[in-house]
Amino acid sequence: MSQIDLIYHHYLSYPTVSTDTRNIIPGCIFFALKGENFDANVFARNALNLGAAFVIIDNPEYQYDDRCILVDDVLTTLQELAKYHRSQLRIPVIGLTGSNGKTTTKELINAVLSEKYRSFATKGNLNNHIGVPLSILSINPDTEIAVIEMGANHQKEIDFLCSIAQPTHGLITNIGRAHLDGFGGFEGVKKGKGELFLYLKKENGTAFINRDNALITEMSVTAKLDHLIYYGTEGSNFITGKLVKSDPLIVLDWKGKDDYFSVQTNLTGSYNFENILASICIGAFFNLRAEQINKGLAGYSPKNNRSQLTKTETNTVICDFYNANPSSMTAALNNISSLAAANKVAIIGDMFELGAEAPEQHEEIASLAEQSGVNTLIFIGKYFSALKNQHRGEFFNSPAEALEWIKVNPVKDSLVLLKGSRGMALEQLLPVL
Ligand code: ATP
Ligand code: MG
Repeated sequence: MSQIDLIYHHYLSYPTVSTDTRNIIPGCIFFALKGENFDANVFARNALNLGAAFVIIDNPEYQYDDRCILVDDVLTTLQELAKYHRSQLRIPVIGLTGSNGKTTTKELINAVLSEKYRSFATKGNLNNHIGVPLSILSINPDTEIAVIEMGANHQKEIDFLCSIAQPTHGLITNIGRAHLDGFGGFEGVKKGKGELFLYLKKENGTAFINRDNALITEMSVTAKLDHLIYYGTEGSNFITGKLVKSDPLIVLDWKGKDDYFSVQTNLTGSYNFENILASICIGAFFNLRAEQINKGLAGYSPKNNRSQLTKTETNTVICDFYNANPSSMTAALNNISSLAAANKVAIIGDMFELGAEAPEQHEEIASLAEQSGVNTLIFIGKYFSALKNQHRGEFFNSPAEALEWIKVNPVKDSLVLLKGSRGMALEQLLPVL
């Protein structure tokens, strides 16, 4: 029996894996991964004491007994195990990548598909070289369809994640200005995300294409995909939709083969229109009835600080502080600009991972914010602060400084956009809004 066969044998009898001793479920297999600042081999005994049935290690010093399985490399073993498990599952897997909107679209697709199927979707944002294998290993045998989010910040990453998740269907939400440093600029992002289409071409898979997005459409043609299903406001062969209003929650009309349907969602931000339409397209493709699709959509409310509408004592806050990059920041500013409110406030924090383009991208966003019709602009972070002499607004180096200022200058009766990169942790400001 090969080592993977042996580990898979254990996994089948108790299909739970863990990489963190704080989350050990008795009977699980513990993978002792290494990070920048830790080596979980040292936790092997602890994991066993906490109830792990087996630990996978790659340092022989920690091989206490035959419950410790020594491999060449723990991470590779985790990935190989996931790959093997995926190959045993005879189900459609929808692979999802793109610069913005992956998690939102994934949640929406799952909300829709679960009206008909036992569906699985990546939990939270587990979308990288560790998260994708963990997601795959969470798919149990009675699952009928799965949606796997795949994130990337460098070339060949999506190709690698595809080799694990083996998607039969795929969707690229969009190509934007995100992770520019790792990908090597915008063309690099396009190439890197395009690896999903190349994989689908090779495996005779199906791609869902947003017909309104010229770049994605062009990429699907370049990849010579054989199975293309279109959605969009026009020119699509499958689902056509229309944004009726976004004020602040989205209402849209959509049409499949014949009838029109209308759906009221709990999502804000006109950019979410395309995410919703993608989920309608996938639902219809997998034979859900319109009522099932609309029920799934109407029942979904974001709870993850991605365009989550929150009413505080006196304000309505668009909580979008989960992350930010120039594309999603542009979408968020255009959205607040289009919404009707007497008093609008934008509190925006620095955008990370932009490499050499960072100063220029912050400058563009500051200009856009100034033109967005927002009454009060609050910029936070070192990149935005460097622009304080060129733009209107209040500028702070940190959320803590902004917090003190807001305490003295309270924000009241306003529609507030709160958005910045994860590292800015803008949620700190919510208590004073
Ligand atoms: P991550 O790279 O962190 O996994 P993601 O691609 O999963 O991000 P989400 O978490 O769904 O994206 O959304 C993050 C933010 O991106 C949203 O709160 C919103 O501001 C913006 N966003 C969502 N969908 C779109 C879209 N279709 N176009 C532009 N921006 C979007
Ligand atoms: Mg995500």
